[in-house]
Amino acid sequence: MSTALQPPCSVRAMRRGTGIVRNWARNEACVPAGIHRPTDVHEVAGIVGAASAAGRRVRAIGAGHSFTPAAMTNGDLLSLDRMDRVVSVDRATGRVTVQAGIRLHDLNDRLAEVGLAMPNLGDIDVQSVAGAISTATHGTGLGLGNLATTVVGMELVTGSGEIVRCDDSADGDRDLLRVARVSLGALGIVTEVTLQCVPAFRLHAVETIEVLDDVMSDVHAFAGSADHAELYWMPGARRCQVKRNHRTDEPARPQPRLAYVRDKWIGENLGFGLICRAGRRFPSMAPRVAKLVTSSAAERDLIDRSDRIFASPRHVKFLEMEYGIPVEAVPEAVGRIRTLVGDLAFPPLFPIEVRVSAADDIPLSTGYGRTNGWIAVHQYRGAPYEAYFQAVEAIMDDYEGRPHWGKLHFQSVDTLRPRYPEWEAFTDQRARLDPDGTFRNPYLDRVLGPITP
Ligand SMILES: Cc1cc2nc3c(=O)[nH]c(=O)nc-3n(C[C@H](O)[C@H](O)[C@H](O)COP(=O)(O)OP(=O)(O)OC[C@H]3O[C@@H](n4cnc5c(N)ncnc54)[C@H](O)[C@@H]3O)c2cc1C
Repeated sequence: MSTALQPPCSVRAMRRGTGIVRNWARNEACVPAGIHRPTDVHEVAGIVGAASAAGRRVRAIGAGHSFTPAAMTNGDLLSLDRMDRVVSVDRATGRVTVQAGIRLHDLNDRLAEVGLAMPNLGDIDVQSVAGAISTATHGTGLGLGNLATTVVGMELVTGSGEIVRCDDSADGDRDLLRVARVSLGALGIVTEVTLQCVPAFRLHAVETIEVLDDVMSDVHAFAGSADHAELYWMPGARRCQVKRNHRTDEPARPQPRLAYVRDKWIGENLGFGLICRAGRRFPSMAPRVAKLVTSSAAERDLIDRSDRIFASPRHVKFLEMEYGIPVEAVPEAVGRIRTLVGDLAFPPLFPIEVRVSAADDIPLSTGYGRTNGWIAVHQYRGAPYEAYFQAVEAIMDDYEGRPHWGKLHFQSVDTLRPRYPEWEAFTDQRARLDPDGTFRNPYLDRVLGPITP
């Protein structure tokens, strides 16, 4: 057993030997009984089997980029950072098998080398593949599902340490595959994943500043105005930043390095961080903060490799809650949030983000059976957020909102179960693969409830 996680794992405190593991946002922490960095599936199986026999709990952590304590444990913690290889590539079918600890940025580079790409990505690329799919991490795009929808095969280690495989072939365990793609790590340690990739593509990114009311006046038109459309709106501002990414065959026209540093590092991180810090100290400045952030957002027009357009560096720490609701409800919900922020004792210092994603058939996926309009609210770390997030959640409840599994929310099994028509398909597999609750932790107890045979 190793006692320290090494870079690039985000649980930095371990390196200082404190024994504390923290997530990226540093709002969650735990002190595991043991930290393991296995190098193959048999090692994983041995660790889980031994822990299970001794009655210890086990969790896996990816990049620690969830805002919830989903990966936290005082039992045994597994980091699959050493299981980060590409196992096989089938260029003809676009199917790529990877070890589950690989980070998205490494995956993207490996895929680009063989002329492939992920069909869609979120706005950062540091997550592990297993962590990203386990919480149904998504990007934006009508007709494009979350990352878990690209999974066509998996290898897992169950609660007793058994290695199981599932895939979409005629003799594969399709029922398990359908369920295991979004599991919050409750079904097993994911050790290998086969992804259905697409031919590499470029994106033409067009970023503009527009009036929020105009964009919201026809949300379907906005969602369909690009292959990947999203907006960022600072509460209090009249205008918002709209990002439209169009697939293109035109040659790459990347942003010059200096301009990239100016926009992404200085503008979106250094400058924005300073503004947030001032807003946290002097909350009455919030309206001016909103205007400043909106007016300093740059209009951009460039063409680059898809993953380079999707992902941006994020160094200003924040907390986030994100809800998927029916797309048609988005304008009304945004309007209600607009009204409520005016009544908050402490204003939001971070923008609201609106995205869309396609429906799927994964029982615990936030996209199960419906196209989602996504509304994400953020708050600068250290500034009060509970009243804001709870008030927004109450609005989302009116639209049968489903919270992102990796982001903050205040729901429990009783409020979540009715929002997932095939909830039992998941709990049945959980009872089969982890009958003794080896993968339980307090967060799973809250959102998934007890394991029922
Ligand atoms: C700055 C920032 C930006 C973000 N942007 C987006 C975005 O654009 N879109 C979006 O949808 N989300 C976004 N997220 C949320 C993020 O994608 C998810 O929380 C994701 O799950 C994090 O992946 P991770 O590798 O850090 O996993 P962790 O947070 O470490 O773990 C997540 C879950 O996966 C489980 N897990 C991890 N590895 C394994 C394994 N090998 N086997 C079984 N279970 C495992 C953990 O136990 C836990 O339950 C963002 C988060 C941050 C902090």
